[in-house]
Amino acid sequence: MFWPLHSDIVLPYIDLYGNEEQKKKWIPGCISGETILAVAMTEPDAGSDLANLSTTAVKDGDHYVVNGSKIFISNGQLADLCIVAVRTSETEKSYAGVSLLVIESDRKGYRKGNNLKKIGMHAQDTSEIFFDDCRVPVENLLGKEGEGFIYLMQKLQQERLIIAIGAYAAAEGALDITLDYVKNRKLFGKPLGKFQNTRFTLAEVATKVQLARSFLDDLIPRHMAGKNVVKEVSMAKYWLTEMQFDVADKCLQMFGGYGYMREYLISRFFVDARVQRIYGGANEVLKEVIARELKI
Ligand SMILES: Cc1cc2nc3c(=O)[nH]c(=O)nc-3n(C[C@H](O)[C@H](O)[C@H](O)COP(=O)(O)OP(=O)(O)OC[C@H]3O[C@@H](n4cnc5c(N)ncnc54)[C@H](O)[C@@H]3O)c2cc1C
Repeated sequence: MFWPLHSDIVLPYIDLYGNEEQKKKWIPGCISGETILAVAMTEPDAGSDLANLSTTAVKDGDHYVVNGSKIFISNGQLADLCIVAVRTSETEKSYAGVSLLVIESDRKGYRKGNNLKKIGMHAQDTSEIFFDDCRVPVENLLGKEGEGFIYLMQKLQQERLIIAIGAYAAAEGALDITLDYVKNRKLFGKPLGKFQNTRFTLAEVATKVQLARSFLDDLIPRHMAGKNVVKEVSMAKYWLTEMQFDVADKCLQMFGGYGYMREYLISRFFVDARVQRIYGGANEVLKEVIARELKI
């Protein structure tokens, strides 16, 4: 299970945009762990271009009838409750017709696809989800109709920051196990850690990890105080995930052929790092956000 997604990304949607009745109904199970959460935005034709989503929710009496499909949904197999981005109206500005529905996964017409085979993050499930005339009570609408895209954009800040924090933690983890390894691996009659290349490489890696930490230490309290940190969060997500991948690559190199074996933990750091540059907004999208904030 992708637990930061459950606790730090999806639950805050219900906490912030849910009404009292919805909070009483859903939050206790989320806290006890009986209810697992997911958020379904991405579709085959709406990833980076999220406003282009085409899953529809058409009102029929006191229900919405949902049709469409989602892809790459983390916790997609395990989720009991999924926040689904749907189109409730056709408007000139495509983002204005988007709403968020909370849909129970045991509802008729909600179908989980296969657990997708990823190159990394094997301990976490990722799925397609299909909606075939899935009837959802209007009480399951989160916040106001037509404001879903704004909610997603607001909450994406926290999601991106969580990804950046994960990137920092993973880079530090990769460095720690590599430091141990180079002290113990001997070649040409001396420990690998005594070669100048190893010392310089790991000195550079440790410097980047330390810089990342300082950046986050400054950013997290500002985010928690509700300051506008869109530019800085975008920088953190983009730069730290690139740094994480570079660190994982450089550390794996120190392990030689052993680093390419799944038996060695460093291989997992490497494959798990790759997706960080893609989800939560591809890094190219984040550079666009930074450039916009720079008013270029
Ligand atoms: C393991 C995993 C877990 C995920 N979990 C979830 C989840 O829980 N919920 C959910 O809704 N989604 C989830 N996603 C989806 C993820 O957010 C999307 O994959 C991501 O937003 C990119 O969309 P896309 O895959 O359609 O790529 P596309 O939108 O097709 O983009 C392809 C590439 O084009 C480039 N690009 C895109 N936009 C621009 C631009 N403006 N300028 C320049 N270049 C650009 C980038 O290099 C990008 O990687 C997950 C994905 C993965 C792989």
